Amino acid sequence: MIRVSLAALVTIYLLVFLAAVFLLWIVGEWNRRRRERRALRYRLRCVICAFEFVDRTPALLPRCPRCGSLNERFKPEQI
Ligand SMILES: [Zn+2]
Repeated sequence: MIRVSLAALVTIYLLVFLAAVFLLWIVGEWNRRRRERRALRYRLRCVICAFEFVDRTPALLPRCPRCGSLNERFKPEQI
């Protein structure tokens, strides 16, 4: 049997627990950002009427559903 003092055991337990929490937090944050980016990818704002809409078609110039004008795809600015 390996002899380990109680203090060392508590320290190891604490370190493992903290590492697990940190890892879960990192993975959660990463998933959240990926989901957010995916949601924003198809969001467009019409340059004529400022109407925000979602377009999932592969069209290069999606048409605004409100005023019918063609819009260029651009990266939405980060808030
Ligand atoms: Zn429009």
